[in-house]
Amino acid sequence: MQEIFHTDAGFAEDADQKDALAWCKQQFHFPQHNGKDAIYFCGNSLGLQPIHTKQAIDIELTTWRDMAVGGYFGGANPWLYYQDYMRPVMAGIVGAKENEVTVMNTLTVNLHLMMLSFYRPTKQRYRIIMEAGAFPSDQYAVETMVRHHGFDPADAVVEVHPADGEKLLRTPDIIDVIRQYGDSVALVLFGGISYYTGQLYDIAAITAAAHSVHAVAGFDLAHVAGNVPVQLHDWQVDFAVWCSYKYLNAGPGAAGGVFVHETHAGNTGMQRLGGWWGNDEKTRFKMEKGFVPKPDAGGWNISTAQVFNMVALKASLELFGKTGMQAIRRKSLRLTAYLEYLLQQLPGLSFEIITPADSEARGAQLSLYFREKGREIHDRMIANGIIVDYREPGVIRVAPAPLYCSFTDVYRFYELLKGFA
Ligand SMILES: *Cc1c(COP(=O)(O)O)cnc(C)c1O
Repeated sequence: MQEIFHTDAGFAEDADQKDALAWCKQQFHFPQHNGKDAIYFCGNSLGLQPIHTKQAIDIELTTWRDMAVGGYFGGANPWLYYQDYMRPVMAGIVGAKENEVTVMNTLTVNLHLMMLSFYRPTKQRYRIIMEAGAFPSDQYAVETMVRHHGFDPADAVVEVHPADGEKLLRTPDIIDVIRQYGDSVALVLFGGISYYTGQLYDIAAITAAAHSVHAVAGFDLAHVAGNVPVQLHDWQVDFAVWCSYKYLNAGPGAAGGVFVHETHAGNTGMQRLGGWWGNDEKTRFKMEKGFVPKPDAGGWNISTAQVFNMVALKASLELFGKTGMQAIRRKSLRLTAYLEYLLQQLPGLSFEIITPADSEARGAQLSLYFREKGREIHDRMIANGIIVDYREPGVIRVAPAPLYCSFTDVYRFYELLKGFA
């Protein structure tokens, strides 16, 4: 059912007053603009700092200061198990069982590690199918991975393009390409949400199509985690990776998340690159020959827990634990629909919303394509304390993250944009 919105400022104030998640805004620090909090629509690039983060980091600094090596077994959060503290909330965020998720490294590194396990090409079955225009790091990872196995990216990497004159991918077209390449497909690797258009792909349908040709289905959920609830376990996704500095607010370079479906996670015979942190704790120090991976996603851990890259994630996830993804999504759907509605009241401006109009096919972000003046509008926004980002050619991405963006923030954006009409 389409909600009725209004263009008066009172509507936004009223919506904020009734917002069940309004209290979350006070849980974050905002960049300052002329002595006031800026309005922040860039949570799809780097989420804001939760006020609680500094204290959480201080706790680990104190443990290190006072206990040194003793911190692995003592202190508030023994470091030996640090990667496991994030599991319960992280599992809820991506619809996984706790044994299917772990936290380690950063996204692209994890993508490589997952491909080393899940992309085992043969002469007959070696192709990777992905969306055209994927995030550059994913493109580089795939290109170099197929070369690592001795294949030519021009042949081994198949990109699915939008139909002529369109900017979005249609699910049936994705499925057609997968079927068309059939037995030669080793891996179908898609972003969950396109960083550029904001399109949310049908993860369940793509997974089913990959499995129908006996290929592996993997996803990069950088723009999904903490933005849109997903059900990786039920959808039978084989693996997924994501970063935690976007909607998950864990800070630059924070440890990334990994999902390995239970059907693989328990398979200790699966190929991987091992290290002591993925080895069973019980036998880790017995000095016996032979790597014994943990029979869960943690079996892909390699190095000692990166405590200072994980602590901010641990702190940030507490908020997600309190709200849950359903409440976040509920507000997000409404907030982004409100932004869309306001944008539609600006007929004098020549721009196009390239993000899907179907709210089930997008997250928080709307991408606005300006045929002209895109850069100028972006710069004016920044000068007025509204932080959005700009991507050539002419795209302003606006992501009202529901944890710290209000209806009034969205209204201010609209008011400023109206000045250009
Ligand atoms: C943000 C993002 C990345 C970043 O990868 P890092 O390894 O964390 O630098 C990769 N892929 C996608 C789709 C992204 O949106």
